[in-house]
Amino acid sequence: MKNCIVIGGGIIGLCSAYYLQKEGHQVTVVDQSKMDGGASYVNAGYLSPSHIIPLSAPGVMKKGLKWMFDKSSPLYIKPRLDLDFLKWTWAFNKSCNQKHVQKCIPVIKDIAVWSQELYDDIKHDNAFNFHYEKKGLLMLCQTEEMLEEEVEVAHIAKSEGLDASEVSLDELKKMEPNVELNVKGAAYFKCDFHTTPHEFMEEMKTYLIKNGVQILTDEKVKDVVVDKGVLSSIKTTTQNLKADEFVLAAGSWSGLLSKKLGLNLLMQAGKGYRVNKMSPTGITIPAILAEAKVAVTPMNGFTRFAGTMEIAGINHDINKVRVDAIGNAANRYYPNVKLTQEEKDDAACGLRPVSPDGLPYIGKSVKCTNLTIAAGHAMMGWSMGTATGKLVSEIISEQKSTLDLNPFHPDRKF
Ligand SMILES: Cc1cc2nc3c(=O)[nH]c(=O)nc-3n(C[C@H](O)[C@H](O)[C@H](O)COP(=O)(O)OP(=O)(O)OC[C@H]3O[C@@H](n4cnc5c(N)ncnc54)[C@H](O)[C@@H]3O)c2cc1C
Repeated sequence: MKNCIVIGGGIIGLCSAYYLQKEGHQVTVVDQSKMDGGASYVNAGYLSPSHIIPLSAPGVMKKGLKWMFDKSSPLYIKPRLDLDFLKWTWAFNKSCNQKHVQKCIPVIKDIAVWSQELYDDIKHDNAFNFHYEKKGLLMLCQTEEMLEEEVEVAHIAKSEGLDASEVSLDELKKMEPNVELNVKGAAYFKCDFHTTPHEFMEEMKTYLIKNGVQILTDEKVKDVVVDKGVLSSIKTTTQNLKADEFVLAAGSWSGLLSKKLGLNLLMQAGKGYRVNKMSPTGITIPAILAEAKVAVTPMNGFTRFAGTMEIAGINHDINKVRVDAIGNAANRYYPNVKLTQEEKDDAACGLRPVSPDGLPYIGKSVKCTNLTIAAGHAMMGWSMGTATGKLVSEIISEQKSTLDLNPFHPDRKF
């Protein structure tokens, strides 16, 4: 049994705590917030092996540059004279190639599929009761060009063993009979599931506390004590805490904290927004509005519209123009769905922890022997949460890893 401290209580930190506790370790989770908001709460709730193409794909950097001056664009990279940002941009740009995409596809698929299986196990544990449905994901397209692109991704997914296909307009209408659709067609990834994120987070926190995990909120990790490659203690807002093993699961903040540990994880925050529609929409199947890059999820009691990727530093400012863009996109694809001003005023945001190559960091750096890093999942943190937690537990328990950890190595070069 080891004494473990998990820094960060988002989906990655909580899932790490869950599997560590199951292995018999003594676990404390430390978080700077009240653990009731941020990326792990505002996300679209997809468990989506369908997202096999990493963010760093050919053409993305070009799109980012083109959209730099468009205030309502779904991707925004704010130029800054900041060394970390410049290093990240260089590494991201280097990863935007076809060879890299081909290498990532099976890696992303394997971890996402395994993660889904682990969510399934948790769902079937009587201790948990959260919204979780297997209805797939539609990629709704308004242009022939986008439809072609998405059907191509569906073919790649199919060749990887995932259940994905094209659906005709007639089929679509039968699938979604209660909502008007203004689209040319769709690709359908039957392999995807969806959830209502805050339900899972609340259930998981309750379970952990019941099972002896200590959760410390409003405790920011401000400093660390490292001696000869061993992290002996952390200094939080009010106390010094010691442990045998530490987990760095601080999401977008992990880059900053890694510097205190003598590492330099390249990481940028990718801000995204969610707007909840509380009145019925008729939407029953999760969808991505492909051209607008807006995610639509029928959650438990409301419909969530989520989108934008704003790489503009760590802040939680709400950009109303981008929130409006999400509302306008919803109305373009579903002409009868209109987000009210009140719903848009209630928008919330979260920061996706974005690594430069579309893969998370999971594992130990050679520079610190008792620190396991689990961060940088970008737009796939919800999908990969359980598998990441299980991998963390396998590493700390010195068990054979279920997956090859090399692609996730925190010391990898870009
Ligand atoms: C709009 C939106 C939609 C998304 N949709 C999906 C989706 O459908 N499917 C999917 O798979 N993914 C989705 N994602 C991505 C996913 O939500 C993230 O990848 C995931 O939540 C990241 O989890 P995390 O635990 O790494 O980080 P976080 O949830 O950010 O948690 C990190 C925690 O660390 C804490 N922390 C930071 N610094 C310190 C410190 N110094 N001391 C103590 N605590 C600290 C923070 O307070 C925070 O609670 C979406 C994200 C957004 C924003």
